[in-house]
Amino acid sequence: MSNIFLYLGNKDIDYRSLMRDQKNVSIAGKTIAISQMVICEQTHSNHVHICSKEDNGAGFKDHPQISVADGFATNIAEQYLLIRTADCYPVLLYEKNARAIAAVHSGREGSRKNIVGQAVQVLVDHFSCDPANIIAHVGAGICQEHYQVSEELYKAFCDSLDADKFSVCSNKHRHLNLRAVINQQLLRAGLKFINIENIQICSYENPDYFSYRRDQGNNRQINLIGINNE
Ligand SMILES: [Zn+2]
Repeated sequence: MSNIFLYLGNKDIDYRSLMRDQKNVSIAGKTIAISQMVICEQTHSNHVHICSKEDNGAGFKDHPQISVADGFATNIAEQYLLIRTADCYPVLLYEKNARAIAAVHSGREGSRKNIVGQAVQVLVDHFSCDPANIIAHVGAGICQEHYQVSEELYKAFCDSLDADKFSVCSNKHRHLNLRAVINQQLLRAGLKFINIENIQICSYENPDYFSYRRDQGNNRQINLIGINNE
């Protein structure tokens, strides 16, 4: 995967510093300019935006973020899709033959609305990707044990997921397993089990990660995917 740049971040490079400094960042041996990155609004929607060259730099300086989107896809080289998270799950997807990528923010609402399924559909419809060749990386997020919700939220979540097709309703009441939901949605979208990689880290448990539930802060880790121009 030499032509795909993929980064699932922790506190090392944080979103607030990136916004404050508005400077190029050095990540995993690569320098990425802010004019090469794209940020979307992340409004807990299931909308996946298809990027154009004009989207380069969205979210920086006076270029607004991509509005009402929680995911995006592109086949433009050297355009880096940025997803910020702190308990919600970042999901990065690519298909090497079609040279197309996608990045998704999947929290409770995004997972309920199957945004990863939407992202796969966009890759198939717009970039002729074969789901069987799509590789997915699911990053750090809050685990089931630490994601307790009210009875009401739990019921609403399970009801809207068509629960008998999903094993989200575990024997632990009022806990949501977003990672399990996302993995099942990826499988249902046609991805192969062996092509789904999970970074098995709970952001709430691991102090190297931002966790909204733990800290109530406004900082986030950043996650990036791009196609290297080589
Ligand atoms: Zn945990």
